[in-house]
Amino acid sequence: MSRIFDLPCPEIAIAGGGRFPVRRILCVGSNYAAHTREMGGDPGREPPLFFSKPADAVVSGEETIPFPPRTADLHHEIELTVAIGTGGANIPVAKALDHVFGYGVGNDLTRRDLQAAARAAGRPWDMAKGFDASAVVSPIMPASAIGHPRQARIWLSVNGTLRQEGDIADMIWNVPEVIAELSTYIRLQPGDVIFTGTPAGVGPIQPGDLVEGGIEGIGTIATRFASG
Ligand code: MN
Repeated sequence: MSRIFDLPCPEIAIAGGGRFPVRRILCVGSNYAAHTREMGGDPGREPPLFFSKPADAVVSGEETIPFPPRTADLHHEIELTVAIGTGGANIPVAKALDHVFGYGVGNDLTRRDLQAAARAAGRPWDMAKGFDASAVVSPIMPASAIGHPRQARIWLSVNGTLRQEGDIADMIWNVPEVIAELSTYIRLQPGDVIFTGTPAGVGPIQPGDLVEGGIEGIGTIATRFASG
């Protein structure tokens, strides 16, 4: 029987040319001590919390995007993203970077009001985190061009006012550790994109806002939210 309709494959631009097909979007829930504290958590070295977004939540961070429905408290979370080029399960920390195609900048958009209600009720985060256009991304910078950055300034501003600032060196779980741990739960596959967690300073976005952010040496986003 023939397929009754075709599904487009979500993809992310690669800096320098080409497109990276997106298989899954996997996220680390809490990976900077100061952000863990601002969310009311204890930044001890507990195993990382993972959640996911649908692959088709991905959207270019360099355009106007819709303001999502069903929230009165949309939050920004600027993050380092890791694009997996080679799959594997139970990947050792020492081999983890061999699986990385490249790096980018992401904004893990969050309906904080829905997340707070879900947390309070012990319910899943899916509708707080995995809505349409919730995974805002920059182009992917290939590791073949920049290597594997261990430290770099990460920042985000709203309408020109700095909201988030940190350094990717301050992640509780670094990139090799995130890949190794995640690959014990699922077999990572080419096309998986990992959002690695956000530094402190998360806050609200309003319709019409311009959200800019970046990671030094990796990329930037400049996203306008539709006004209505
Ligand atoms: Mn996040």
